Amino acid sequence: MLRKIIGGLADIIYPKRCLACKAPLAGAASGDHYVCSKCWGEIKKNVPPFCSRCGRHLKKNNLAKNVCSGCARSELHFDRAFSPTLYEGTIKKLLHEFKYKGKDYLGATLTKPMLEFITEYRLPMEYMDLVIPVPLHNSKLREREFNQAHILGSHIAREYKKEIRLDLLVRHRNTLTQTNLETGERLKNVKNCFSVTDGTAVTGKNILLVDDVLTTGATCSEAALALKNAGAGIVFALTLAN
Ligand SMILES: [Zn+2]
Ligand SMILES: [Zn+2]
Repeated sequence: MLRKIIGGLADIIYPKRCLACKAPLAGAASGDHYVCSKCWGEIKKNVPPFCSRCGRHLKKNNLAKNVCSGCARSELHFDRAFSPTLYEGTIKKLLHEFKYKGKDYLGATLTKPMLEFITEYRLPMEYMDLVIPVPLHNSKLREREFNQAHILGSHIAREYKKEIRLDLLVRHRNTLTQTNLETGERLKNVKNCFSVTDGTAVTGKNILLVDDVLTTGATCSEAALALKNAGAGIVFALTLAN
């Protein structure tokens, strides 16, 4: 009886279809309650060599310079960015469900590639003092009910026993959605939109900024600039995809 109730609850809590391809899931035995093994296996990984600034895969013709053509042209204010996956296919579909369909329970699943990346590429987590998720503007937070970066960041902070701070960095200006903007417009759009509430709390601290996607890097760059202007030490940006 009890098992039946628990089983029934599980059916409510865990959708029985893959959230990426909508194919029926083969129950808990599939290993993940939300994504089928085929879709999970199709996630496109970001592979080395990486651009030494934005962390994107570096094409052969840029190898000598160590930075991609985008980073050679523009100044990014974080020390380095890292992303385990490419923003396409399964990850793009899952992030859409996560962010815009209120599926906050996807957070643990989506953090997995980030944690694997930290281990595989030996990100120096021991030197990081704080985890700070890139904040949403209050009006967007109300509309979406949660900040996707906060959920990803809290899983990472918990895994590495780091302090997560949501109060130190604020987005005091609502910005246009970056999706339809060109690179130059994106930079202008987010310029000066972040500020630090307590400079003494970030002074000399190495900070891991967390967000879902790094596109041009403009958002993380502006967030890093605000932190650096307030006295932060190293600022790394870790995003699920780029
Ligand atoms: Zn699937
Ligand atoms: Zn780059």
